[in-house]
Amino acid sequence: MTHLLHRSIKARLPVAVGGKGIEIFDQEGRTYIDASGGAAVSCLGHSHPDVLAALHDQLDRIAYAHTSFFTSDVAERLADRLAADAPEGLGHVYLVSGGSEAIEAALKMARQYFVEKGEPQRRHIIARRQSYHGNTLGALAAGGNEWRRAQFKPLLIETHHIDPCYAYRLQEPGESDEAYAARAAQALEDKIVELGADQVIAFVAETVVGATAGAVPPVADYLKRVRTICDRYGVLLILDEVMCGMGRTGTLHACEQEGVAPDLMTIAKGLGGGYQPIGAVLLSDRIFDAFASGSGFFQHGHTYMGHPMAAAAALAVQEVIRRDNLLQNVRAMGMHLSRRLNERFANHHNVGDIRGRGLFQAIELVTDRSTKAPFDPALKLHARIKQEAMANGLMVYPMGGTIDGRLGDHVLVAPPFIAAPRDIDAIVERLGDAVDAAI
Ligand code: PLP
Repeated sequence: MTHLLHRSIKARLPVAVGGKGIEIFDQEGRTYIDASGGAAVSCLGHSHPDVLAALHDQLDRIAYAHTSFFTSDVAERLADRLAADAPEGLGHVYLVSGGSEAIEAALKMARQYFVEKGEPQRRHIIARRQSYHGNTLGALAAGGNEWRRAQFKPLLIETHHIDPCYAYRLQEPGESDEAYAARAAQALEDKIVELGADQVIAFVAETVVGATAGAVPPVADYLKRVRTICDRYGVLLILDEVMCGMGRTGTLHACEQEGVAPDLMTIAKGLGGGYQPIGAVLLSDRIFDAFASGSGFFQHGHTYMGHPMAAAAALAVQEVIRRDNLLQNVRAMGMHLSRRLNERFANHHNVGDIRGRGLFQAIELVTDRSTKAPFDPALKLHARIKQEAMANGLMVYPMGGTIDGRLGDHVLVAPPFIAAPRDIDAIVERLGDAVDAAI
């Protein structure tokens, strides 16, 4: 009997007692390859000496000072680093404790921006189905994962969901990428027009969809078209890179590969690599200027925002990634992972799609490749794969499909950026065994 309320009350979890590099060790002496970085968090693996040293150093200086009284050198330096590497025009940084907090802050910044500008009638948020933006109420309202939302719906602010850009299931046979990108983006324009262009605050989307659909990249030009539509109607674009950002797809920000810069961008997970809880909103000069020349403040705040220990961890993680040229390794190992996944699964009867970018890849499972029919969600195939993988010393991130058959069970693979070819080979071999054992 435990007094700790776990995510699942029935699950009996191994006790993690240590970690080194890409491995985690449990109390029973078992070793697991962390092939999902937890949930795409542990980008440097575990117990990285440089991050531990930075944390010790910060702890010796000061662990905490409330941000309504003080700033800290380390938070300022982290903001400088993030602003210097940000997409065009995103020169300001708001530090929070995780991904959901970042989304909440971004939504409120977007709303306050229009209040400052004298457009307080703007009240609608548009987001996408099969998305995930976090579990707090605002973030859950924006998210399009019906399973997570269902029982909390009466508490959620109204959000308008359009179809995602999800080529495997939503691109019509024979439809070119260009035509599909135009059609998927048109859904946004139609929704803005339906709601009234001067009533809409923002469109929020994951650049590469993570937890709900499994490493789904946009087709070429989709986000460029989205950017154009947002600009046409004065709607803000919020890109959620909590999972896909901070190097995971091979560039620091996933939107770099789309040639698009949002007005607000959320980051977390890989920002601090799990060494401390931290997230951030990167905001445009335009939004900052509206606050600066208006009320002079952002009406928001959390006790632990800009926490010096969290900032120290993130700064160290980001410096190691840069110093050790790890984005290059993400690109090289991403290609290796894609090759291996294709070798193992391209002809697998139950693998319908293999997709992703960099070290952010997934397989989607189907009962039949020709019909793309997903497994019955009641079978909980994803949970069985997770169980088989753990029994075989592998951590991957499987998620269930949807009841309406618009998405199959899928498995996300997101190893640390330090992974070597032999690690990738072991991950794919164990994943293949787990999939075969579970089906
Ligand atoms: N946004 C995205 C895209 C995510 O994947 C997640 C978490 O998985 C969140 C937001 C929420 O982040 P957190 O769990 O840190 O609150």
